[in-house]
Amino acid sequence: MLATYGSPLYVYDLRRVRAALADLRSSLPQGAHVLYSLKANPHVDLVRELLAGGCRAELSSTGELRTALAAGADPATCFYTGPGKTAEELRTAIAAGVRTFSTESLVDLRRVARVARESGQEVDCVLRVNGAEAPGSAGMRMTGDASQFGTDAVVLAERGEELRDADLKGARLVGFHFFPLTNAADEASLVAEMTASIRTAAALAEQLALDITVLDLGGGFGAPFAQTGDRPRYPGLRKALAAELDRHFPRWADGGVEVLFESGRHLVGDSGTLLCTVSDVKDSRDTRFAVLDTGINHLGGLSGIGRLLPLSAVPLAVPTEPTDEATHDAQGDAPDDAPVELGTDAAATPPARTRLVGPLCTPADTLGRGAVDLPDLAVGQRLAIPNVGAYGATASLLGFLSRPAAAEVVVDGPGSAESPRVVSATRLTLVREPVPARTTDPTEHPEPRENHVSEESAMQERTMTAVPVRDAEGGPWNADYVTVLRSVLPRLGEDVGPDTSLRAAGLDSLALVELLVRLEEAYAVAIPDDDLGPESFATAGSLWSVVESVRTA
Ligand SMILES: *Cc1c(COP(=O)(O)O)cnc(C)c1O
Repeated sequence: MLATYGSPLYVYDLRRVRAALADLRSSLPQGAHVLYSLKANPHVDLVRELLAGGCRAELSSTGELRTALAAGADPATCFYTGPGKTAEELRTAIAAGVRTFSTESLVDLRRVARVARESGQEVDCVLRVNGAEAPGSAGMRMTGDASQFGTDAVVLAERGEELRDADLKGARLVGFHFFPLTNAADEASLVAEMTASIRTAAALAEQLALDITVLDLGGGFGAPFAQTGDRPRYPGLRKALAAELDRHFPRWADGGVEVLFESGRHLVGDSGTLLCTVSDVKDSRDTRFAVLDTGINHLGGLSGIGRLLPLSAVPLAVPTEPTDEATHDAQGDAPDDAPVELGTDAAATPPARTRLVGPLCTPADTLGRGAVDLPDLAVGQRLAIPNVGAYGATASLLGFLSRPAAAEVVVDGPGSAESPRVVSATRLTLVREPVPARTTDPTEHPEPRENHVSEESAMQERTMTAVPVRDAEGGPWNADYVTVLRSVLPRLGEDVGPDTSLRAAGLDSLALVELLVRLEEAYAVAIPDDDLGPESFATAGSLWSVVESVRTA
């Protein structure tokens, strides 16, 4: 593979995607629907495979919608979610034929209803509910505590009047959506969360006098990430959930209540492997560094905001000669990608604690938390990082330092395990496009638009735009500061004060990197990584303090 397509390289094996879907289905109540969350990996070939296997697409952007349609999705079966859906993207989705939306609040529900009405359609909506915390659950909880997602169950219970409001014409409220945790630690956590969700849904349906026909119980199905290990199995889940559904929604068994589950990482995580090459090996003080040709631009963009996960790499038995040119010998090289057999030279040397770092000019370009045990690595040694089919290529800092993305090769059977059939070999590219100025704010003044799937993507929202800015009167900062903030965070509200939350305005790892670059440019300063903890970019004020401190230093 590496000899054919060059290094670094993601390989996704569709046989593993099929196996994961079959296993998950057998763990869920019979007749339940599985939604594939494109967020985990929007590669069109993986999406096509999962749709062919009977999954529906769970989307939260115009770009994901475009991919689902390209993969052959029937838009009427797509499920559109997300906390900040704009009127414009809703218009695009409805025009494309999407008819089911998860709504996060009454504001969101009214917005979907209005856009549907204006489009001459009626759409189905479920309300995303932030239920009470289930006892004894583990994993990364998305809701339960105060949450930016959904609406608290207790709040909803008191708003039955508003939910029957005439404003909602255009949207049929058909059910509830829960997604309380992700990457659950074990089956018991899943059972606890999902049975709690079923009970909350039953109680809410009664309090709101709502006859629900859709119940989305979310997911949280686990998967190892960038470490060896197997997908977890859930042998007891089907029975436990069926029993709870029988108790609260007896009509579910004959389809009167559609039961949905969502999964991203569990379906595609173990299908992906990142193959890469060691560019340099050096010892500094008491630490060994292996510099790879892949870093947080290809894997683990979240490390840009300090979230490093443990990672392991498996040395491959291929020549350690650095090869600058890919040969085009498709046959015969695949067995070379096999892991090193014990007893070969590489594995015979005692393992050394090695930090795996990438090619980017920032100390943030560290793959994984801490050092890993690896045999003595030589320049040119090939490595495989397993279980990175989810949250790999597209969850990384693709644009940072303008290096090419890793190639992505999709393989499938038939063919021996060593030389599977190559379905596609592609590489993502970022393209800068001109953005026409608009005269109205489409969020507030919707105008009829042509029915087409917009070519606009999330990338466009990040393009620098000259927005007239009302400076915070007497604000503590330099006037340009808000302009810079707004150029990266278009969702920033009108009044920006020291306590304005940057995260609420859309600051994620990608935006953060961009924001730092722009602040450094605007103020001709260098912001040392040491000055940046999560608290320093919490609010407009805290980030300004960092800028101030380096300006005056
Ligand atoms: C992220 C997300 C998923 C997918 O999560 P995984 O842990 O990858 O399965 C599903 N549903 C919603 C609402 C999400 O935000």
